[in-house]
Amino acid sequence: MANIFKDTLGQLQKATADLELDPGLLERLQIPQRVLEFSLPIKMDKGGIKTFVGYRVQYNNARGPYKGGIRFHPQVNLNEIKALSLLMALKTAVVDLPLGGGKGGVKVDPKKLSQDELERLSRAYISALAGQIGPNKDIPAPDVNTNPQIMAWMLDEYEKINNGKFPAVITGKPLELGGSPGRIEATGQGGFYVFQELARKLRLKPQQTTVAIQGFGNVGFYIAKFLYQAGYRLVAVADSQGGIYAKHNNSMDPENILNTKQAKGLAAGCYCVGSVCDCANFQAIDNQKILELPVDVLIPAALENVITAVNAKKVRAKIILELANGAISLTGEKSLLKKGKIILPDILANSGGVVVSYFEWVQNLQNYYWSEDEVNNRLLTKTSKAFNDVWRLAQAKKTDLRTASLKLAVDRIVKSMEKRNCP
Ligand code: GLU
Repeated sequence: MANIFKDTLGQLQKATADLELDPGLLERLQIPQRVLEFSLPIKMDKGGIKTFVGYRVQYNNARGPYKGGIRFHPQVNLNEIKALSLLMALKTAVVDLPLGGGKGGVKVDPKKLSQDELERLSRAYISALAGQIGPNKDIPAPDVNTNPQIMAWMLDEYEKINNGKFPAVITGKPLELGGSPGRIEATGQGGFYVFQELARKLRLKPQQTTVAIQGFGNVGFYIAKFLYQAGYRLVAVADSQGGIYAKHNNSMDPENILNTKQAKGLAAGCYCVGSVCDCANFQAIDNQKILELPVDVLIPAALENVITAVNAKKVRAKIILELANGAISLTGEKSLLKKGKIILPDILANSGGVVVSYFEWVQNLQNYYWSEDEVNNRLLTKTSKAFNDVWRLAQAKKTDLRTASLKLAVDRIVKSMEKRNCP
C-alpha cells in the first residue's frame, strides 16, 4: 500500500536538499508535534454502542495555531492524517497565513450513519478533543465528507463544554453561526484564481483549452463552474460512480451535469439539459480512464494517490491542477515531470479553502463581517501573490512548481522556528 506520509516527507527532502537550513530544524519538521488517537463510542439508533477511532495530528504551530480539516472516511488512518497535517502546515506557509498545520479524521463511512448518529459522532469527536483545540490553539474545519452542519454541531459542543461563545474555534460554519460568505466555493474559487495566473503566463485561450475533472463533490463542482463560466471547454467529469465524456469536445455546463447526475447518474454516459438527454454525443467514462484523456488540463479533485508510477505515463494532459490533497504520488510526479508536464501542486492549487477559513477566523475574532465580494477580492490577492512568489522561485531555481512551493513554505516555517529559538 502506498505510504503517503513517506511520500510527502520524500518530497520535502527533495525540495530542501539545497537549502542552507539548520539540519536540526529540518529533522524536527519530519515529526509531528503531537499525535492524538482516541476512541469514540457512539450509541446507535437501533440500540447498542459502536466504537469508532478518531485522530487529530497537530503537526507544526511555529507560524500560528494549528489549522486543518476533519475528514470522515472509511479509509482514514494515522499515516494519512499525518501526511495531510504536514501538507496543511506547508499550505498555510505557502500562502503566508499566520497559521500552522493540523488535520483530523474519523475512520467511518458516514453514508451508513443516520443524521442522529452523525450528530452524536461529531459531538463526541469534539468532546474528546475539547482541551486540545481552541481559537488560539487548534482550529478545525471541513474536509472530505464533513460540511457546515457538522461544523455547527462541533461548535455547539465546544461552546457547551466551555460555557461561552467561541465562533473562532472552528471554520467552515454555516453563515448563521458566523461562517464566511464565499467559504463553500472557496477551494474551487482559489483553484480557479491560481489556474488563471498560470493561464496568463502560458497565454492559454479558454475556447481552445479542454478540461477533465475527476471528482464532482464540492471542489469538483465549483472549479467546473468557474472554468466553464470563463469559457474553458469542460469535456469530461467523473465521480466515484462513473462519468461522462463529450466525444466531440462540446463544453458541458456543470449545472446540467448536476442535473444529469440527479436524473440518470453520471455513469449512464448521457448529458441532460432539462429532461432532454443526449446519449449519442457523450459516452460513459470511469474515474480511472478520465485521467488518461487527451485533454489540455486534468484536475484530480477527489482523493489522494490517484496518479502514481503505474498510470502517470498514460496521462496526456499538459497541465495538472492538483485540487485533491496528495493526488500525485512521488514516483508519479517524477514520471510526469520527465514528460514536461506542468503541475500546480495541492498546497498552492487548493489553498483557497484554508485562505477563506483564515478570513472566517479573522471575522469571528473581530465580530465584524465582510461581503462576499470583499472575501473574494482578498482571496484573489492572496492566491495571486502565492502563485507569483512560487513562479518566480521556480524560474530562479530552474525547478518545478511543487519543489518551489515546498522550498518557500519550509523556508518560512524554519525561519519562524529559528526566531522562537526552538531547541
Ligand atoms: N480541508 C481543507 C484543506 O485541506 C481546508 C482546511 C481549513 O480550512 O482549515 O485545505
